[in-house]
Amino acid sequence: MADDVSQSAAPPQAYYDEIKAKFAEARDLRLGYRPHGTAQYTSDFTGALAKYASDPHAEPAPERAPIADEVEVLFIGGGFSALLTAARLRERGVESIRIVERGADVGGTWYWNRYPGAACDVPSYDYLPLLDEMGYVPSRLYAKGPEIYAHCQAIAKRYDLYELAVFRTTVTRTAWDRAAKLWVLETDRGDKMRAKFVICANGTLSKPKLSKIAGMESFAGYSFHTSRWDYAYTGRELENLADKVVGIIGTGASAVQAIPRLGKAAKQLYVFQRTPSGIDIRGDRPTDPEWAARLEPGWQQARRMKHIRGRPEDLARAAELAKISREEKIRRQENANIDHMMRIHQRIDEIVQDPETANALKPWYMFMCKRPCFDDDYLPTYNLPNVKLVDTKGKGITEIGPEGPLFEGKSYPLDLLIYATGFEVQKTGIYNEIRGRDGREINEVYADGIRTLFGVHTHGFPNLFIMGGYQASFQFNLTFMLQTQGDHIAECIKLARERGAAEIDVKPETEAWWVQEVIAHRGKTSRNADCTPGYYNFEGEFNRRQDGNYNGGFFQYYTHMHEIRDDLASHFLFG
Ligand code: NDP
Repeated sequence: MADDVSQSAAPPQAYYDEIKAKFAEARDLRLGYRPHGTAQYTSDFTGALAKYASDPHAEPAPERAPIADEVEVLFIGGGFSALLTAARLRERGVESIRIVERGADVGGTWYWNRYPGAACDVPSYDYLPLLDEMGYVPSRLYAKGPEIYAHCQAIAKRYDLYELAVFRTTVTRTAWDRAAKLWVLETDRGDKMRAKFVICANGTLSKPKLSKIAGMESFAGYSFHTSRWDYAYTGRELENLADKVVGIIGTGASAVQAIPRLGKAAKQLYVFQRTPSGIDIRGDRPTDPEWAARLEPGWQQARRMKHIRGRPEDLARAAELAKISREEKIRRQENANIDHMMRIHQRIDEIVQDPETANALKPWYMFMCKRPCFDDDYLPTYNLPNVKLVDTKGKGITEIGPEGPLFEGKSYPLDLLIYATGFEVQKTGIYNEIRGRDGREINEVYADGIRTLFGVHTHGFPNLFIMGGYQASFQFNLTFMLQTQGDHIAECIKLARERGAAEIDVKPETEAWWVQEVIAHRGKTSRNADCTPGYYNFEGEFNRRQDGNYNGGFFQYYTHMHEIRDDLASHFLFG
């Protein structure tokens, strides 16, 4: 939320109401163009679309014999979730740990997303996991992709996670063997691995998606998705683009980081925009070595906790807000959010020279309807003579011919077309069919609504832990949420080991409590319905109240988790 909710020297309410009416108009325009919600996208990369899933960072996988062994803990996915949880398991003496990963190395998001300009958008000192444990201080406020990827590899080395890891392998089926009390995992390489504990660590945004655009298969030029950047085509420094006409579809967080670099390198760049992102100041800077040298052990956790507990002035303000009515609270927060968005508009006017382009870049929606972006080079890019914004005003590109995208009867011939169209969001069982104790698939179990404890445990799926799924508290610094889940999972596994239990399964009544907790905190405002469509509100689709994230706030999520942990044994069944 934007910060200042005090009412001193505020413009009249009519000013805010007028802007809110414009937000509603922009949302309706966009929804009118997009009746299909999430169905407008596809992640089925087969046939002509198969090339969009292939890995440009590694040679084709060499043949290997199928694996049919048993480990104690198996991670599906080798990104941050697996790495930070595995570290906690090692601290608790777990030796047999395997990562099974689709990519050719660990790193997850940071393995796949190597587009130019990739960097974290949350200060590195909060975002990169295990900094204390690794004795590492990132080189800058916003570490760049290669540094984060190297940190992932360093964690895997430090905790011996390469030893049993299996790369270029996708888990396709995970089924509970009742007799053996083990999970049996099948993969696309013919494996049949067994594991006592399975942790779904496949990430929140791991499967790229493409907008379903008529004729996209007919495009005769070169094309790829941002998460599969092909440096063999562009050149390591994008030097091969000097004589190329490049187009990029989408202006979300990935595109906002890539576009400034493309603008500098390409002969001509067309940006095909459907909805603009809100671009805030980044203010990146190198780490002050004197500050780094003064950091005390435990500094990262202390820093993260300080953020979630809130600053003293935030607490004082919250206490003041508690005294006013709910409607008034919402009104003040909305007005503060509008002030923030108008500051974003003002910056565009100050930076972008062409007034038509500047207007087209202005986001007309409430702060946090879409993921805020931060890049100091993005807006100036539109002042370059070789960069052209093609604003589709909410309609999007709906047709692509052999030469390139078409919009309003005009064709845009391109050498290279880049899809910055995002990812499937928080799908449990991505690429994978998960069958529990009674043989039912997890998404069948969720058919009447998602049921979990903390988004991590579902009754009937013993020894299975889900990270980054729904019913958890999604927060801007995702890695802190993942670390909280990872610490909890490691404690659960430790407890099961200590008790000599073959199974640990959440009690139905504890799960029911959490589902009610999730429902109680959803639908407090009409915010989701008021927002312009995007992945934060399921592209404007209706959603059952429990089929989303826990909205009670991360501090509350964290606190609940610790309360349950204080008496872990009474919330689980052991077999
Ligand atoms: P997004 O889903 O945020 O963006 C997809 C973009 O494609 C949107 O601008 C969308 O427009 C546009 N689009 C889709 N279809 C069409 C079409 N037919 N014509 C024109 N435009 C179209 O994906 P990103 O990869 O940018 O980001 C996903 C998430 O990944 C981020 O929100 C963030 O959480 C994470 N991320 C984090 C980064 C970091 O921390 N540094 C960097 C990059 C990503 P519309 O808005 O209208 O739907």
